[in-house]
Amino acid sequence: MASAKGASVAWDFSTDEAFEADLEWMREVVREEVEPLETLDLTRDQLLALIAPIQERVRERGLWAAHLPPALGGMGFGQVRLGLMHEILGRSPYGPVVFGNNAPDSGNAELLAVAMEMTGRADIEERWLRPLLEGRMRSGFSMTEPETAGSDPRLLRTRAVRDGDEWVISGHKWYTTNGSVADVLIVMAVTNPDVSPYQGSSMFVVPVETPGVRIVRDVGSMDEPRVTYGRFGNHAEIYYDEVRVPLDHLVGPEGSGFALAQARLGPGRIHHCMRWLGQASRAFDMMCERAKSRYAHGSLLADKQTVQNWIADSAAEMHAARLMTLHAAWAIDQRGAAGARDEIAMIKYYGAKVLHDVVDRALQVHGALGYSADLPLEAMYRAARAARIYDGPDEVHRQSVARHTLARYEAREVPREYLPARRAAALERYAEALELLEAESA
Ligand SMILES: Cc1cc2nc3c(=O)[nH]c(=O)nc-3n(C[C@H](O)[C@H](O)[C@H](O)COP(=O)(O)OP(=O)(O)OC[C@H]3O[C@@H](n4cnc5c(N)ncnc54)[C@H](O)[C@@H]3O)c2cc1C
Repeated sequence: MASAKGASVAWDFSTDEAFEADLEWMREVVREEVEPLETLDLTRDQLLALIAPIQERVRERGLWAAHLPPALGGMGFGQVRLGLMHEILGRSPYGPVVFGNNAPDSGNAELLAVAMEMTGRADIEERWLRPLLEGRMRSGFSMTEPETAGSDPRLLRTRAVRDGDEWVISGHKWYTTNGSVADVLIVMAVTNPDVSPYQGSSMFVVPVETPGVRIVRDVGSMDEPRVTYGRFGNHAEIYYDEVRVPLDHLVGPEGSGFALAQARLGPGRIHHCMRWLGQASRAFDMMCERAKSRYAHGSLLADKQTVQNWIADSAAEMHAARLMTLHAAWAIDQRGAAGARDEIAMIKYYGAKVLHDVVDRALQVHGALGYSADLPLEAMYRAARAARIYDGPDEVHRQSVARHTLARYEAREVPREYLPARRAAALERYAEALELLEAESA
């Protein structure tokens, strides 16, 4: 069943029986055991205690940390299977943590695994990767800075300077998700400002207790405007004031920051998109249920054409997003993340829009109830809004797809399809045959 990471999976619109049984098991666990936890106001420690027995059963079933290859303690499912799995786990914000592949830990573990491959350094596994995989360590990914445009990481200002047998890191970051509950932070910094940022940026593992790491606050956001410091899922603002780490805290070769970021974010976007579909389908279920239950102006909402249009459009858009995402997953399995760049970019902005629109329609169908905190729709709506910004704003992905698409075309003074020119060319090409036809009919 499990294949090596990156191995191809034949996908013929059906799922093999053994894996379908696993998916069904996941659906039941998420519906019956994980979704109820959302209704309780739990601290991080309470949540971890309540999910520990479920996590144990996930391990026994061989579904733990499925994003990593077996050699690293994962299942090495390949991206298509992971995609199908994330669609189910994404129904609940707690689904991924129960299955050992929650962001940002899962992406950071992938990044460390790629760094290990690049350098052949086995110590990375024992120090950071295993503890992350086993849930003994929490991490944050610290790249975005308030002073520079996160959509263009070539502008990063955080610097790391080598001093003897240490790196000294100085900079200011924000939106480091889970930064205030993390044990280690993976920090992107410029190590050589004299070359292109693609060659001059590097990643470091920084333990949070290192002198000079100053977590000043969790940023209040649409997610939680009056934020409580130190909660799971918060976004930290962090100063790195001449933070000194040993040389071996540089992960990957010096200058590989962009390559590592790409390796981390490419497959991660697929998982996000499938989780978004899980959220969208949950909102969709709520919309359909309400449409069949609410009566107004002489009929059920389900009988109004506008609502029918919302349901039909949502069904079609979710279906399209699902196929696009699974195809992008398949493309990664076939060609690697770099070779599937456009497919990944397309589902990022398409998937984020579908999630947003489906949740918005579901909320509208519920009226005031949808806007209230008595249903999960308002929280889903806030989360959906963020999806258009994180992992690169939609506009950047659109720009990159448009640029690659346009590169396949050439400028022409006269359009290729200009009919007078095409007609002249056709007359020339068929001149003899046309003459014969004319002679025959005369
Ligand atoms: C919920 C959430 C979680 C996050 N988690 C993390 C994390 O864990 N670690 C981390 O490092 N960062 C994280 N981020 C930050 C995120 O990666 C950045 O917000 C994102 O990269 C955009 O950068 P920016 O906010 O600086 O926006 P800017 O770069 O300032 O862009 C602002 C806007 O400009 C427009 N724009 C930019 N470029 C173009 C273009 N080429 N064409 C047209 N329009 C354009 C877009 O509309 C964009 O939204 C998170 C953000 C959010 C919202």
